[in-house]
Amino acid sequence: WREMEWVAAQMATETESVDSRLLPLIAVCGRPNVGKSTLFNRLTGSRRSIVGDEPGITRDRIYGEIEWQGQDARIVDTGGVVPDDEALIPAEIFRQAQVALEEADAIVMVVDGRTELASPDMELARLLLRGGKPVFLAVNKMDTDAMQVQAENFRRLGFKNVLPISAEHGTGIGDLLDEVFAMLPEPREIETPEVMLTEGDEMAEDEDGPDFSPAPGAVVKPARRLRSHGEYEAKETKVAIIGRPNVGKSTLLNALTGTSRAIVSPIAGTTRDAVDEVVERGGHNFRFVDTAGIRRKGKTKLMAEKLSVIMARKHLEAADVSLLVIDATEGVAALDANIGGYAHESGRSVVIVINKWDLMTKTGPDGMRLFDGKPPADQKVYEQQVRDNLKYLEYAPLLFISAADGKNIESVFKKVELVSRERRKRVTTGQMNKFLEKVDFQKASVPMNKRVRIYYMTQAAVAPPTFVLFTDKDVKMHFSFERFLGNQIRDNFGFIGSPIWFKIKARNKK
Ligand code: GDP
Ligand code: GDP
Repeated sequence: WREMEWVAAQMATETESVDSRLLPLIAVCGRPNVGKSTLFNRLTGSRRSIVGDEPGITRDRIYGEIEWQGQDARIVDTGGVVPDDEALIPAEIFRQAQVALEEADAIVMVVDGRTELASPDMELARLLLRGGKPVFLAVNKMDTDAMQVQAENFRRLGFKNVLPISAEHGTGIGDLLDEVFAMLPEPREIETPEVMLTEGDEMAEDEDGPDFSPAPGAVVKPARRLRSHGEYEAKETKVAIIGRPNVGKSTLLNALTGTSRAIVSPIAGTTRDAVDEVVERGGHNFRFVDTAGIRRKGKTKLMAEKLSVIMARKHLEAADVSLLVIDATEGVAALDANIGGYAHESGRSVVIVINKWDLMTKTGPDGMRLFDGKPPADQKVYEQQVRDNLKYLEYAPLLFISAADGKNIESVFKKVELVSRERRKRVTTGQMNKFLEKVDFQKASVPMNKRVRIYYMTQAAVAPPTFVLFTDKDVKMHFSFERFLGNQIRDNFGFIGSPIWFKIKARNKK
């Protein structure tokens, strides 16, 4: 049973054709309602191609990418039109077969094992078998073992490879993929630029930023991988409110949960005393994790500070997005940078929240700021100072709020929703390769110890977006190269608020 294996390594779909030069292509064909979209969604983990389309709606071809046992492939759902218009079915079948035969390296024809063979099935089978490409017959809706023998009835369509599956239950899929992938050609190589990476251990220090390396043993667990089925359904975002004592975390929590009419309810978390509060806004749920912990205060200043770090780490583990709260009157302190460092390292998205902004703008009769006698602060200048002190969080959006006055609270929800969407975004390998060709790698100021060839780069995971570089040598990426590539990716694809992770995979040349 290998469902988990392939669920774990999914790639997304897109509704337009991707660069076809790279990965072998598998086409899924079949009559309407046999379960093509269900199978496709199983394989790609996407819900974009909608199961149970309304009859008569044209569904164009939908592409996705899958990985099976370390091998990548693209898959196309040749779709279907007009399930209820008999007259159009033969034409549609012909179009599908055409697409499949022209583009695909392997073809999976799907039939509904619980219905009689119909003439469109025969016609499609005939066309496909004549095409000379590897073809497989998936007899779908064989939900029980007992049903699977029925699949044999479909041998008379002429296929050598007949596989009973249940797209809905996920059975038989592993065997199908084994057979299909065994027939696929190797990925074609494209010319990607020669890229300099330095070999080695000496990952360069971030010279201009503060030291944010977590204390020894203080490892925040990597972000939990969502099953890819959930990736496009971010109906709920788990939010951690983190920051040092007295910056206004509890006040912010109250503002976020109190101003909204639609408080769903406190929900008991995993540990005994952890309570989450869920707020619903515009169809999106915001779950503030461990709200009891946010309100907990240390007795002494030192205890409170230690507690704020422990809480931040604990809350990050349970969250997708963190709100890093900073007290505007104090600016970025060492402890803020430290807590921000944990957020960055954890792979969670970050929104920087400058709180108590009211105190920075209130003026007395003489036009001077009341609390320290200075003129009102300028947001642009202030933001620059914060950014200079939190360089590694350059991707994080920054907000000025006043939690006590309820000012700008709405924008907190908006930004959290934005970064939560951004961290789940997918870039297809096709888009990635187009992008790679455009990148001017000469601009990456990286010592040229060793040249490494990047065959291609793919986004292997979301939340946080994680890119795998397939190279000919196994080397660590130089710090400044990683930053360069990350910035290039951001310029092109956004990923606002989320860190970007990289992995190197050395591939043996044949
Ligand atoms: P398509 O038109 O070929 O893309 O077919 P769909 O994927 O939309 O599926 C048509 C119907 O068959 C839907 O109601 C599915 O829920 C159902 N279906 C798909 N796969 C299975 C399966 O393995 N078992 C059962 N019992 N039903 C399935
Ligand atoms: P926590 O320790 O981070 O949870 O901070 P609290 O929420 O307990 O706030 C610490 C203090 O700052 C309290 O006295 C709050 O009333 C005050 N405070 C919080 N937010 C604001 C704000 O936006 N403006 C002002 N002026 N005071 C605030």
